[in-house]
Amino acid sequence: MGERHLFVRLQDCELSCRFCDTPLSFVVNRFCRVEYPPLSKKYLHLNNPVSISDLNQTIARFDDPVISITGGEPLQKTPFLKAWLQTLEHSRRILLETAGVHFSEFRDIIDYIDIVSMDFKLKSSTGMHPWWQEHELFLKAALDKGKEVYIKAVMTRDTTDEDLEKGIRLLMTLDPNIPLILQPASVTQRFQAAPSLEQMYRWHSLTRELLPHVRVIPQMHKHMGIS
Ligand code: SF4
Repeated sequence: MGERHLFVRLQDCELSCRFCDTPLSFVVNRFCRVEYPPLSKKYLHLNNPVSISDLNQTIARFDDPVISITGGEPLQKTPFLKAWLQTLEHSRRILLETAGVHFSEFRDIIDYIDIVSMDFKLKSSTGMHPWWQEHELFLKAALDKGKEVYIKAVMTRDTTDEDLEKGIRLLMTLDPNIPLILQPASVTQRFQAAPSLEQMYRWHSLTRELLPHVRVIPQMHKHMGIS
C-alpha cells in the first residue's frame, strides 16, 4: 500500500471465484495493452504472446520499484515466468500475487520472488471447494525460503466465521506474524454480494483477538479509478 507498483497481468485462471473481477484476463487477446504514460488511459499494444525482450523493453520505460506479477493466475504460466524472471536485473522487488493453490509451479520460480501475496480462498467466499492443504504447503515453502509473505482473504456477504477461523488457525500454527488482509469484495456487474461494514468490523474484531497483524483494506485501485 502506498508504494508504486508496475503490474504485469498474465492471462488465464482455472479457478472460478464468484467475486472474480478480472474475467477479461481469461479471454485470449491479440494484444497486450500497456498503459503509457502512466494514468494517461492511452495504451501501447504489444503482440500476444509477448516476447521476453518486448516485455523487458516495455518495463524499462517505467521506474516503479516493485513489479507485481498478477493475473488471472500467474502460476499457470510458470515456464514463461521462469524464463523471464531470470533475465531481470535485481534492481526491483518482485511481488507474486497468487491464489496459493499451484504448489509445484510455485517451487519452480520461488527463488525469483521477493514478496508473496497469497490468497486464502475461503469456500464460502469463492463458491469453490476449500484449498487448505495447498495453502499450507504453499505457505510453508514461502516461509522456508524466508520470503516476505502476506495473506489476503476476500470477504463477501456469505463468508462464514468458520472459514475465516480455519485461516486464522493455519496462520497461528505456521507463523502468527504473517499479516492478514481482510478485503471486502467489490461490487461488479457480475457480483453484488459485497459484505456490510458491520460484517467487516465483526470479522476484524474476531481476527485481531488472535493475530497481531490484521488489516481491512478494500481494492484501492478501484477507489482511485485505476483499472
Ligand atoms: S483466483 Fe483470482 S483470477 Fe482466478 S477466478 Fe479467483 S479471483 Fe479470478
